[in-house]
Amino acid sequence: MQAYQTFREYLAKELEAIQSAGLYKSERIIASPQSVAITLQSGQQVLNFCANNYLGLSDSKELTSAACKAMESRGYGMSSVRFICGAQDLHKQLEAAIARFFGTEDTILYAACFDANGGVFEPLLGEKDAIISDALNHASIIDGVRLCKAVRYRYANANMQDLEAQLQAAQAQRFRLIVTDGVFSMDGNVAPLDKIHALAEKYSAMVMVDESHSAGVVGKTGRGVTELFNLRGQAEIITGTLGKAFGGAIGGFTTGKKEIIAMLRQRSRPYLFSNSLPPAVVGAGIYTFGYLENSTVLQDKLHENTAYFIGKMQQAGFDVKPTQSAICAVMLYDAKLSQDMADKLLEEGIYVAGFYYPVVPKGQARIRLQISAAHEREQLDKCIRAFVKVGGELGVLKS
Ligand SMILES: *Cc1c(COP(=O)(O)O)cnc(C)c1O
Repeated sequence: MQAYQTFREYLAKELEAIQSAGLYKSERIIASPQSVAITLQSGQQVLNFCANNYLGLSDSKELTSAACKAMESRGYGMSSVRFICGAQDLHKQLEAAIARFFGTEDTILYAACFDANGGVFEPLLGEKDAIISDALNHASIIDGVRLCKAVRYRYANANMQDLEAQLQAAQAQRFRLIVTDGVFSMDGNVAPLDKIHALAEKYSAMVMVDESHSAGVVGKTGRGVTELFNLRGQAEIITGTLGKAFGGAIGGFTTGKKEIIAMLRQRSRPYLFSNSLPPAVVGAGIYTFGYLENSTVLQDKLHENTAYFIGKMQQAGFDVKPTQSAICAVMLYDAKLSQDMADKLLEEGIYVAGFYYPVVPKGQARIRLQISAAHEREQLDKCIRAFVKVGGELGVLKS
């Protein structure tokens, strides 16, 4: 009681500091399924442009029904980790389907990609080894690297001169692993995987790509950046999530060379000491990868939507970062402007997120949109009209 009294005062002060710095994160409440058109708790209907619902599968009737079927045939929960109670046939089917999708040898499932990244480095590399990591890699990669004793090298985002310099410095170590996000979430830029692989070859390093934002999205058939650069099955390690393009529920995976996956099954702590994915999620996953194996309708529509939207926004005079992903960063540079603009867009029924320091560098504030295969042309047009109206009012359009 006494101890908590002083701790509570400390927390209250810290929370106040977060609030007065304008960094307090509050959550809007959604009272409908996740979709491109959603209802907020206030009753307001808005078009959603800030979900990772790239293929529009979050509210898919087919996925929901596949999840129900799996639950009916295999039950609700697993109540154990796999090395004690085993896995279901469904888990093995999903692992095989993910490996087919990426052209890899084997896959291991996790509760989330955060766990996949948290549990991938420490079992594979030790103090004699080197991890060379992009400075803008996802928080879960940064945390995973911290749990590993390997020597750490960092290179500036997608900067190949810097990567080469770090690889030269890392020649002292035994094994080298270059780690990169496939798509960087704030700019939507794609990692230059062709150049990364060439440097990996030159300096004898392995490559790991986190395809969380790129799988289902990037590449002609949405197989990710490894497809975009004709490197299918070449990266030693790919991590990814079931929480974005592939239905958006929960779950992560590591897929790649079979010996690596075998070692992770023996030693990866989030796999060994955390519960298996529930049958509903696994059943829906099997359906999703099965569907994507036979059709690129959703990927094609997503690519079409993204090209249309970004083209129109640039024509309208917005400063939009070029991208091969479905992330559209509308640069505003000013933090307050990004918040004002997001608020005004919401009044127009457009739900987007404004980002500013420390999420992006100082003076690089922006609104980030994420395009979905489920967006219809008139919804994209409504969004563009709202941007033009609000952008005009706030004076952010280039003339
Ligand atoms: C979203 C994301 C993750 C985390 O995925 P979860 O399955 O939600 O834990 C990891 N890495 C990257 C690059 C991501 O974008």
